[in-house]
Amino acid sequence: MGTCIFCGGRANSNEDAWPRWLLKALQLKPRENVPISVSRRDGSTGQWQGVNAGLRVRKVCRKVCNNGWMSTLEERVKPILTPMIQGAPTTLSTMQQLTIATWLTKCAMVFDSMDGGDVFYDQLDRSHFRKHLTPMGSTSVWLGHYYGTNFRAFTDHRTLRSVGRSGKSYKTHVQTMAFGRLALQILSVKWLAHEPVAARVHVKMVPGTWNQATIKIFPVSLHALQWPPGVSLEDSQRGFETFIHRFGGEWKRLPFAFFAQFLAFYTVMGQLGYKLT
Ligand SMILES: [Zn+2]
Repeated sequence: MGTCIFCGGRANSNEDAWPRWLLKALQLKPRENVPISVSRRDGSTGQWQGVNAGLRVRKVCRKVCNNGWMSTLEERVKPILTPMIQGAPTTLSTMQQLTIATWLTKCAMVFDSMDGGDVFYDQLDRSHFRKHLTPMGSTSVWLGHYYGTNFRAFTDHRTLRSVGRSGKSYKTHVQTMAFGRLALQILSVKWLAHEPVAARVHVKMVPGTWNQATIKIFPVSLHALQWPPGVSLEDSQRGFETFIHRFGGEWKRLPFAFFAQFLAFYTVMGQLGYKLT
């Protein structure tokens, strides 16, 4: 049995990588199949169908984490995200922004830990997160309005390596999810070698109407934010598909030339080592 990725205890609990309430919020009819899409290391998209399909991972302990702070976090985020998943316009307070960003950090750490070998969040990051329940400092979180039909439930996570202006290497971790009408994206940055705290990273981005298509909820805004943003993310090359890889990496539907500008990036796609139950 492995150790809990957050507290180091025994990983004796099957945590839902896709919380059950999330699948419920999609308002499935009884016994309706939900297609679940997960992107793989090679950039292809895997899809499963199953009645109330859930992904379970044995990565956390039952008492301290899964039935403790993680359960509390799910209960806090559920009433905020459920109406948004169903497409209802929402006003997000500063505290609600922080709750969503914290929950997304938890998701990113769990999915990242499923990768064999090169994980982004190390043990120190995860135990610090468990103690303080706040996203890492160098993190940004955006919300968008997914207005397409390709995905009911979708996740993609990738770790990208790049070289900053100072010549020092850094890596970024990006996880993008869509549930119903809600698109969520979290990005964290780490220097690979010691760098002064003040050193800034200029993360490259594919051009797009991202400022109109997203609201940034972390670092939190001190005033309330309105969702959805003015522009929706559709099933088009300038829409959700590009949003997924706007910080780099590949997406299979796009022609090679489109992301040739990102050849400088070395992409490690997440290998998903879990099973459906
Ligand atoms: Zn634990």
